[in-house]
Amino acid sequence: MVVGAVGVIAVLVTGCVALPGLRRPDIATFSERFTLPPANDASSVRVRFGGVSTLLFEVDGAPALMTDGFFSRPGLGAILTAKIGPDAAAISYGLGQMDVEAVPLIVPLHAHYDHAMDAPWVALKTGARLLGDASIRNIARGSPLAETRVDTVTPGKPVVFGEWTLTFIPAEHAPTRFRLPGEITKALRPPARVSEWREGQPWTLFVEHAPGTHRAKSFLVHASAGYRPGEIARALAGRCVDIVFLGVGGAGHQRSSERERLWTETVRAANASRVILIHWDDLFQGLDQPLRPMSYVTDNFARTIEHFERLAAADGRDLRLPPVFDLFDPYSDLPAQREPCYGSTLTGAHRD
Ligand SMILES: [Zn+2]
Repeated sequence: MVVGAVGVIAVLVTGCVALPGLRRPDIATFSERFTLPPANDASSVRVRFGGVSTLLFEVDGAPALMTDGFFSRPGLGAILTAKIGPDAAAISYGLGQMDVEAVPLIVPLHAHYDHAMDAPWVALKTGARLLGDASIRNIARGSPLAETRVDTVTPGKPVVFGEWTLTFIPAEHAPTRFRLPGEITKALRPPARVSEWREGQPWTLFVEHAPGTHRAKSFLVHASAGYRPGEIARALAGRCVDIVFLGVGGAGHQRSSERERLWTETVRAANASRVILIHWDDLFQGLDQPLRPMSYVTDNFARTIEHFERLAAADGRDLRLPPVFDLFDPYSDLPAQREPCYGSTLTGAHRD
């Protein structure tokens, strides 16, 4: 997501761009959800969370795939009053904290700055290829990354990358009021106004590792808190998914019925045993500070997690929050998968 119009108006009215006193949920309130176990030598798939929707997946001890790769996190004041661009020091710091020097593949999950702005520069530093739509390609064209290092996504067509199979399922962006819809149609050379990073096509990334083997694993990364009715269920065609990494930015300002529909269209559609919430942190604060939820001006994370805790308990699913930068094993103590999958028999939204 990008900052909502309410946030912009609040800043303009108050004249306050540092926003030191904005209230927000206390992260300590959710400490019992930060309990994913650290990865160990027996963990086949290991994950690090770098804030917003940046996730690094490792398999058998080697980095394999990174979503987004966003580390610059310019402050709200800079976003509203200046041009922004990748921050080399922040990228180096973020990659250092992620303990990664090389990664084969980076996948931005849509083209907004808080997902895709840094990706070509992270690819340059890590030797990665970049995989995305036409907007992502135009972000890369504005960087020194060679265009031969960028691959274009075809919706629904699986991409095989080593032991990984990636399928890009078209998604909808969270229904925030300042979405900047549309494509990036020419090379985007930073620094630029935040509005230059148009939305592009949001994706749900369906990842299968070693499908058809005893080592098979699967997960979804759904970065933005919107949905296309039935899209994930259709794409999965009855297949279950172990884990959904669910982006919830802005979900706390949605109607309760819409939030439940988001859960139904993602978590229930995949019949996931575990849900790990992402994109809940205050993206206007650097990664050298402890992560904290977004302020009540832009979101209400307490409302989202309390609602999803109820839904997870009712469904018999496990709900967690990822530690920042610490390598965790998302498959440890994974609850048993329920059968059959919801598949195309999605339940409708429940009304308040
Ligand atoms: Zn966005």
